[in-house]
Amino acid sequence: MDSGTQGRAQVLAGNTVYMLTITAPSGGAAKRAVVLSARVHPGESGGSWAMQGFLDFILSAAPDAQLLRQLFVFKVVPMLNPDGVVVGNSRCSLAGRDPNRAYRTGSRGSFPAVCQRGREVVLYCDFHGHSRKNNVFMYGCSGGRDGSETRLWERIFPLMLSKNAPDKFSFSSCKFKVQKSKEGTGRVVMWQMGIANSYTIEVAFGGSTLAAPTAPCLMGPWRGRRAPGDRRDKVPAWHQASCS
Ligand SMILES: [Zn+2]
Repeated sequence: MDSGTQGRAQVLAGNTVYMLTITAPSGGAAKRAVVLSARVHPGESGGSWAMQGFLDFILSAAPDAQLLRQLFVFKVVPMLNPDGVVVGNSRCSLAGRDPNRAYRTGSRGSFPAVCQRGREVVLYCDFHGHSRKNNVFMYGCSGGRDGSETRLWERIFPLMLSKNAPDKFSFSSCKFKVQKSKEGTGRVVMWQMGIANSYTIEVAFGGSTLAAPTAPCLMGPWRGRRAPGDRRDKVPAWHQASCS
């Protein structure tokens, strides 16, 4: 029987951050880890929508899910910033700061990836919702961290996603950069700690432009276009800052 356990911690307002461990009993310490998290930005509920889909799949009896549980230990934090979610913040914690710019200064022991001492982390991914784009896509880190040219390595997983879900995931929307302004994000810090497959996945507020014409689409006839009265150009600059 496969196993699932919970770890927990409390944040400023006393809300609980849960960490789920999902795996199969076989393999033990030799298994590598996959670390996933969502809702560090509390207003990005699309991240929870994708996380719910992942959890439904990985906890299911599907043959692929069973195989993944046999091969890996999944450490999952479905809601990293419950304080911000409870009070209705967009990007901040209760302390009024963007926690996805603070990974460099926070305690390393407070992040799920480094809880995997002695266990290799093969993939880290933080789930977000982009406020200005369409589709599902990823931000990764550019190669050459140690002077070697490895830029293609980080692109393999997103490319595989696009091949498996061409009607949902847009590889052409992915970017692989480490900008100065993004150095405090989870994916950059985890990448600098040695996790080559370190990503932010964005589930855009604007819906899909990839779905087949016959498929239902949240954006209806306005798919891929601006609707009348669209005020995105009036959105404050702090909110227009791309996610991660
Ligand atoms: Zn975000």
